Amino acid sequence: MSLSIQARAIAPSPTFALIEQASILRAKGEPVINLGIGEPMNRTPINAILSSSAKLRVGDVKYSRVDGMPSLKKAVIRYTEENYGRVVAPENIIITTGAKQSLFNILYTLLNPQDEVIMLAPYWVSYPEMIKMCYGVPVTVVPEDGSFYHRIEDIIQSVGSYTKAIIVNSPNNPSGVMYSAEFISELVEYCESKGIYLIMDDIYHKLVFDRKVWQPGYAFTSKDIDNSHIIAVNGISKSYGMTGFRIGWLIAPRKLILIMTNVQAQMTSNPSTLLQAGAEGALTGQQAIIENLRLSIENNRNVIMSELKAFNDLKIVPPDGTFYVLPDFRAYGNNSAKMAQNILDKALVVTVPGTAFGMEGFLRLSYAGSIKDLTEGIERIRWVLDPAAPNEIYIGDRKLIRDWF
Ligand code: PMP
Repeated sequence: MSLSIQARAIAPSPTFALIEQASILRAKGEPVINLGIGEPMNRTPINAILSSSAKLRVGDVKYSRVDGMPSLKKAVIRYTEENYGRVVAPENIIITTGAKQSLFNILYTLLNPQDEVIMLAPYWVSYPEMIKMCYGVPVTVVPEDGSFYHRIEDIIQSVGSYTKAIIVNSPNNPSGVMYSAEFISELVEYCESKGIYLIMDDIYHKLVFDRKVWQPGYAFTSKDIDNSHIIAVNGISKSYGMTGFRIGWLIAPRKLILIMTNVQAQMTSNPSTLLQAGAEGALTGQQAIIENLRLSIENNRNVIMSELKAFNDLKIVPPDGTFYVLPDFRAYGNNSAKMAQNILDKALVVTVPGTAFGMEGFLRLSYAGSIKDLTEGIERIRWVLDPAAPNEIYIGDRKLIRDWF
């Protein structure tokens, strides 16, 4: 059997193997703690439930327009006005199956074979794979000073004649950092002047801590949407904790939206109408949900940061937002995949190895779960890695004694 080289080149999800092992252990009744999760634990907002179920109740679930239901677009227009300070036309929007399909539509629409897309490390795992699926070439820029904050000079140095786009995710998965307004404005100015597309993945923009203020790329350009090179991606997965609804959208010049609509028409026709209705319910309903979620995640961030202080040799850039932190574990081992496997085997905690994000020696920890899981999870990781941690630990009702230092 001969399979496509292109498809075989796509890396498997870095969390898949660990999550799979963890679910087998959990099914056996083992007390597994998952610090690898990529979604908030809240219940679906009531307005989303009502809106989707109203459609189901009357049996009105047909195809929608390819680019999304006009009523949902109206809600996105309002959202964009409130959060981006821009009035966009329905023709500047396409509704997609999660922000993921937005990103795929953009790359598929922009890239010719060999075109390069610059990603800022640490970057979200799916970017390089999606770029490769569109026959593009991912180019990584790593901050020189070992921080997670980039300098515009380093990015400009990586730009070449094949550079088509730069992807920016701020606040950032996996580091949790939000880039400064100054950096974003320099990037916008550079991309607008050079005609390079600036893909802004804003999926975490509502989950920002310490009263810091997120600013959209559009704040730094005087161009109107149809003449700008900024493309903004957003959705309901993270801010509303509605990951399973799979609804996202993007804002772009209408000439791009037209092509993306053709792409989407041939690929999926339209995102599920039932779930578009749910997204509309969330966007037009009670917005306090977002702030409640943000507050509980900020509290979790404070808890995990204080628990992580117990390690003597961990380097941590404090997260400004999201629900991830990416500590530098290199004092405890250089192979993060092995480290993550060891932590799961010995202490039943799921983490994500930094190799997935271009950061070997780091582990991504999610603090979207319960406080109990956070405190217990960090205690268990310390027991595995840190010789200064107590030798004995209770995992579930088993008392374990460490014998590997
Ligand atoms: N971008 C980033 C940075 C993400 O972390 C995620 C979800 N993990 C997405 C996009 C995709 O979001 P969605 O669920 O809307 O497809």
